[in-house]
Order: sequence, then structure tokens, then C-alpha cells
Amino acid sequence: MNKKIELAAKNATLEKADIIKILETDEYDECLFKTADAVRKAKKGDVVHIRGIIEFSNICKQNCKYCGIRKDNCSVERYRLSLSEITDFAAHANEKGFKTIVLQSGEDGFFSTEKLVEIIKNIKAMGLALTLSIGEKTTEEYRAYKNAGADRYLLRIETTDKNLYKTLHPNMSFENRMRCLRDLKTLGYETGTGILVGLPGQTAESIANDILFFKELDADMIGLGPFIPAQNTPLEKDAGGTLNQALKVMALTRLLLQDVNIPATTAMETLHPQGRIMALNSGANVIMPNVTEGDYKKKYLLYPGKASVNTSREQTFDETKKMIESIGRTVGTTAGFRYD
Ligand code: SAM
Repeated sequence: MNKKIELAAKNATLEKADIIKILETDEYDECLFKTADAVRKAKKGDVVHIRGIIEFSNICKQNCKYCGIRKDNCSVERYRLSLSEITDFAAHANEKGFKTIVLQSGEDGFFSTEKLVEIIKNIKAMGLALTLSIGEKTTEEYRAYKNAGADRYLLRIETTDKNLYKTLHPNMSFENRMRCLRDLKTLGYETGTGILVGLPGQTAESIANDILFFKELDADMIGLGPFIPAQNTPLEKDAGGTLNQALKVMALTRLLLQDVNIPATTAMETLHPQGRIMALNSGANVIMPNVTEGDYKKKYLLYPGKASVNTSREQTFDETKKMIESIGRTVGTTAGFRYD
């Protein structure tokens, strides 16, 4: 199997049965992580791109069973930032050195197309790259954001197992999520997707299908994180995913989609203080620290113990830079598009 992993570094393919085998045992982990790191170095270099996330609303009309800010979680103190707060946070991040802003929120109807277009134009006027992560929208809405200047869009498929998807997402449809992803690609967004690793009922085979789906979609970014059970959700008593399994899915993704952007995610850091460093050493080349200011961060609790809720935005860029340099890597000075 180690030979097959090394071959995958050359030809970017692996049989589904081999992906499953790798996921089901720890036997090949060392070779897998080392090879994914070598592919990252060869295809993306030692540069790590830092993207600043603004979590601008935790109000959501959806009821994803795993999510801490799902609609029916009445214990969440809800907030939404004003348009000027969002622009101010982005301007502050720009001054600090961020080249990309990621706007993330629940599916909050308050932010009409008109409001979002205004926010997008304000941020684009600062010369920043802009990623949206605001859920399922109509084709027309996606088109309007793109025309206003949005560059990228993140929408995890969460799982490609249709039955599991249905169980976890009441009143949502797998077909519509797929439609969204295909729209985003067609409209010319750099399109990001990804999954939760360790969902109850998820199998190694379904994860193998997920990875093959990333390739079929020709996704430009892949965000992966362990599922972390959140209080006051239907899955609060379920077992969560492990960091090691999430890292393995990430490393396999790097082998098969060699030039894409892959973040070391906050959920990885939540499970281990060195989680993001481990990810950067196993295939990741992006990091997305939170640049939302004040108490808002503490209210955007998708899961408990979310890393970095206590770091101030003053420290964020410098601390992230220090971390990147501590492992011999450098901070990106460009927007870090897939085909830069
Ligand atoms: N509403 C947007 C969407 O659906 O893409 C963006 C916000 S949503 C909260 C962002 C991501 O959080 C989801 O794609 C999901 O994978 C992740 N997430 C939610 N609950 C989580 C949990 N309990 N553990 C780990 N990640 C979680």
C-alpha cells in the first residue's frame, strides 16, 4: 500500500478500494502524511495563505442536526453585524496584512441580495479577495454576488451519502446542494466544498466517495473538519470524529487533488492545540483565522471549545504568521488563488 501511496503522488489517482483500506487502518498513516506533505510542497510550495474570517450572523433558518447554531437551538444568543461593522472589520484585517476576507454566516434572510452586493462592493474596493460562505442560494443570487465582485464560495457538501445527508438535514435536499455547487462552478467562482469527518453513520466507503466527488466536481478548495458534537443539538450525545481521521481524509485529498487550496481548519485545532500545525505538515496550505471582533466570536459556536474564540483580532495575524514561520514556511503575499 505504501507503494500505491507513493504512486498516487505521481499520477493523482487511487482506487476506491485502496482509499477505503487506508481509512480503515492506521498502518499507512506515516507514509500517507509524509507523501501528502511532499505533494503540497511540490505543487503549492512553502507559502501558507492567511484568510481572515468574519462571522457576520449566527441567525440561521436551517436545522442541520450537528450544528450549534441550528435554528431550533434556543440557547444561542443570536446576533447579526451591521453593514458598517462588517466593512470596518474587513478594513481592519486589510491593515493587518490579510489578503482575503471570508464572509461566513448562517442562512440569514435579513441579508438581502441588495445588502450583500453593497457589502461585497465595499470589501472589493479595498483590493481584497473575497470568499463567501453563506449557504444555499438561488442561481440568480449567486450570479449577483459574482457580478458584484465575489471571488470564491465555500459550500461543504457535508457528505455525499444521500441517505445520511437526508437524515442530518431536515427540510433540505441533497439535489439542491449539488445544484448550488454546480452553479458556483459554472458562474466562475473558485469553488470550495468539503465534508464533516466522523458523522454518526458515516462509513469509510462514503468518505472515499466524498473524496472522489471532490475530484469529479473539480473543486478549487477543500475544507475538512472532524464532526464535534455540539450541546443542545440532536447529536450532542453522539461520538465525534477524530483529528487523525480528519487529517487522513485531508492527506488523501491532497494526493488526488494536488493543486487545490486546503485549509488547516479550526475544528482540527479544537481537538488538539497543535492541530493546525499537524494539518499544515500533512497537506494543508491555507489557514483561516477569525477576525470577528469582541463577543460575537463566542456566540458563533458551531461546536464547544471552538479554538481561538479568546484571541483578539490585534494578535491574530501576527500569531498566525509566527506559527507558520515556526515550521519553516512563509506567509503568502498574494490572494492565493488556485492558479496563482
Ligand atoms: N451556512 C453556511 C453553510 O451552510 O455553508 C456556512 C456556515 S456553516 C455553520 C459552516 C460549516 O460549519 C458547515 O459547513 C459545517 O461543516 C461546519 N459545522 C457545523 N457544525 C459543526 C460541528 N458540530 N462540528 C464541526 N463542524 C461543524
